[in-house]
Amino acid sequence: MTTKHVPPEWGFEFHGHLCPFMPIGYRMGRLALDTLGVEREKDHGLFVIADLGEGHPQTCMLDGVQIATGATYGKLMMTKTFYGKLAATFYHPRKGAVRFALKPDFIDGMGKFEFFSYRKRGVEPSEIPITVTEEVTQWMYNQPDEVLFKIEMKPDFKFTPVKGSFNKTKCSVCEEYVFDRYVRMKEGKPLCIPCSGYEKTVLIER
Ligand SMILES: [Zn+2]
Ligand SMILES: [Zn+2]
Repeated sequence: MTTKHVPPEWGFEFHGHLCPFMPIGYRMGRLALDTLGVEREKDHGLFVIADLGEGHPQTCMLDGVQIATGATYGKLMMTKTFYGKLAATFYHPRKGAVRFALKPDFIDGMGKFEFFSYRKRGVEPSEIPITVTEEVTQWMYNQPDEVLFKIEMKPDFKFTPVKGSFNKTKCSVCEEYVFDRYVRMKEGKPLCIPCSGYEKTVLIER
């Protein structure tokens, strides 16, 4: 089997380098759209709640997920749980939720390719010989979906996105606009977070 879910050229341009993980995320995202029965997201319908963290490899997957689904970070359709796991839940309020996780045996199988000995030595993906990168990526394309992914429907999945608001206030020190959920009050004056000296976690909802 060779998957039909191969990223478009603009996806590689957007991502910046060839690597196996962006295409894995792309494949995951396309399969999730199929599973939920939705089209690539134009606006604000599909949420991706990724279990990845930071400071570990494979986070390139999330660019692939965004390329495939249109559920982008900039549209606030992608959030992370920071569980440090190679998994993501795809949630559409009208269609339900499905979670995709990469299987450990697949990760182990992929880890044997030369690509990763370069990465472990700190070589950046764009500096790795293209044949080395293509070898592992083509191997991944050739594996059946069920070898890569554990797929579970999540009928009880709950997710409450942050409520949007256009309300903003000028910081009384730097005079830049601050959206209201981030405004801090000090001695009766509205301030932005950097000018207030407050921690980010102090929230005044109005
Ligand atoms: Zn990458
Ligand atoms: Zn300020």
